[in-house]
Amino acid sequence: YSAKSERLCCRLFDQEMEDRALRRRILTEDLVRAIDQDRLQQLYQPIVSMRSRRVVQVEALLRWRHPHYGEISPLEVVKLAEQSGLAESLNLWVMTQACRQNMVWRQSGLPPIQVSVNISPMSYSRFDLVAMVDAVLRETGLPAEQLVIEVTEDTTMQDIEASPQLLSRLRRLGVELALDDFGTGHSSLSHLKRMPFQKLKIDKAFVRELEQAPEEIAMIQAIIHMAHSLGMEVIAEGIEQFSSHRQLSRLGCDYAQGYLLYKPLTGGEVQRVLRDDSGLSLAALPEREA
Ligand code: C2E
Ligand code: MG
Ligand code: MG
Ligand code: MG
Repeated sequence: YSAKSERLCCRLFDQEMEDRALRRRILTEDLVRAIDQDRLQQLYQPIVSMRSRRVVQVEALLRWRHPHYGEISPLEVVKLAEQSGLAESLNLWVMTQACRQNMVWRQSGLPPIQVSVNISPMSYSRFDLVAMVDAVLRETGLPAEQLVIEVTEDTTMQDIEASPQLLSRLRRLGVELALDDFGTGHSSLSHLKRMPFQKLKIDKAFVRELEQAPEEIAMIQAIIHMAHSLGMEVIAEGIEQFSSHRQLSRLGCDYAQGYLLYKPLTGGEVQRVLRDDSGLSLAALPEREA
């Protein structure tokens, strides 16, 4: 290892750090404008009832295509926003957009569905989320029961003491609450019991394991039983295979989300799906067994 190659290595490393810092700076600046000028996008992934096979809900998922860096993952966008004081305005954009879009579907005479939005850790704990949700519902006119707020276990764990109360206040607005990415976080049963969730979303990592190792059935079965006994309905996310859809349906899972059913769609695409939705497009899927 010569001194010369070491110097070269350091230079490359510095260069890489610099590139990354530069990228972050550019993206942050551009994110401010993208939020202001409505240049972010939202896609909507349908969630289908295992029983009726109809689309009952869509999850709003953020998309940002940067002119230079291309598609930026929503997790990175959220991280950038949280690091640069943009968490609240991003959250407001996301929620407003989702409620407006749901009003558009509603006003075109389609059967009512719920739209869910993801709440980042900081938007959950640092800002007055209750006031924001209330304001957005008033401004857009969406009935509260058509909005679902998704938070992860770890987000609710940020402030174990305050969480049940914050969630109850949200609940009193009439919105539904979903516990996202269940099984990947660090919450305890006693914590879970104190929180007023209506829905629990089994993380796609578990569904993936079900596809690779059928003995994972016991785990998923236990989660579904637990959720039902706490009065929650269960959504499985990330379903890619028929076999796991069938398994989950047999185990009593209530709703399905995943590429097997639908990828995230544009607002217009959802409109067409809802218009044609008689449950028939999913006829190939196995029936729920009694
Ligand atoms: P999430 O809330 O768990 O959302 C589900 C993710 O799984 C989405 O990824 C979705 O596209 C993906 N997915 C759905 N079905 C399948 C499948 O069958 N196979 C595979 N491999 N993936 C599937 P996406 O859109 O990249 O979002 C990633 C995460 O970013 C979300 O995870 C959520 O935590 C966060 N996120 C997305 N949009 C927002 C937003 O508007 N606000 C906040 N705070 N976070 C968001
Ligand atoms: Mg989610
Ligand atoms: Mg999830
Ligand atoms: Mg997930």
